[in-house]
Amino acid sequence: MRRATLVLALALGVCGNGCSEAPRRETASIELSAERAAMLNTLKRYGLHDERILAAMAAVRRDRFIPEAFRRGNEYGDHPLPIGYGQTISQPFIVAYMTWKMALKPGEKVLEIGTGSGYQAAILAELGVEVYSIEIVPELAEHARTALKAEGYGSVRVLTGDGYKGWPEHAPFDAIIITCAPAEVPQALVEQLRDDGRMIVPVGRGRQRLVILRRKETRVVQEDDIPVRFVPMVKGAE
Ligand code: SAH
Repeated sequence: MRRATLVLALALGVCGNGCSEAPRRETASIELSAERAAMLNTLKRYGLHDERILAAMAAVRRDRFIPEAFRRGNEYGDHPLPIGYGQTISQPFIVAYMTWKMALKPGEKVLEIGTGSGYQAAILAELGVEVYSIEIVPELAEHARTALKAEGYGSVRVLTGDGYKGWPEHAPFDAIIITCAPAEVPQALVEQLRDDGRMIVPVGRGRQRLVILRRKETRVVQEDDIPVRFVPMVKGAE
């Protein structure tokens, strides 16, 4: 996937259509609603062709993670959506892209910072990884717990707390996905990566860039990736 193409694609933004009732997940082969099929086509147009990621994106009912008061029938559109408390859920492509970049293997242990709606956590759970997620707004943490359970992702563990501290009791993690933007890479979280563990994080105030880190024993290899826009990662009370 070429960076220039991706950046251009990010700037485009194709709005979603109306949204009908999503099909039930239990069916052996998932019958996609027109909205979900369109979302998958958009992901492919962006250049994302990984079968496992596409299958996870097809399986999770994004609309069920948007708090009811914010559902407008455009939950599968190519744009972020408000979820309350001044927070947003990323556009589907960014969720898929960040997940893809982590090259997760089933059984790996993943920490997400910024549970929000619970949608990203559900995508991770679909990939067969063990998910730990931290959310600083108690009401969002509660919403995410409820939505995750209702959608069959009750194994995802959600902690109400400050993501800057990570979750030392469950460290080390194979991967850490941060879905809110700190001004700098949080060192406490780098220390919770296992050897060969990776992290993806939008870094910066205002202008942000995805940064991908890989821990190699005592060294950390860092690579800048595409420009993005996330809500800030806020500091919790000490
Ligand atoms: N991944 C989410 C979207 C996240 S929006 C989803 O799939 O819906 C970013 C979230 O990060 C918000 O819910 C915000 O409250 C949370 N957040 C901000 N600062 C945080 C911190 N220090 N620790 C944990 N969560 C934080």
